[in-house]
Amino acid sequence: MARQDFGFMPRENPCAQCGKPIARPDWVEQGDGRTSYLWNCRACDYRFEAVAIYDDAQLTPLAA
Ligand SMILES: [Zn+2]
Repeated sequence: MARQDFGFMPRENPCAQCGKPIARPDWVEQGDGRTSYLWNCRACDYRFEAVAIYDDAQLTPLAA
């Protein structure tokens, strides 16, 4: 998958329980090289977290 710009906001993520698309996450938390999105389904009231991990750390090899 292509790299995403920082601040990328996923949309229409399907609910992990009922599969209905959720327009946007309720909460976004950015940490070291990863972003957590908290989704709250209005259809079935299910909440779940999805984490996106950015590949930036892997651009520099640890050992040559
Ligand atoms: Zn749902």
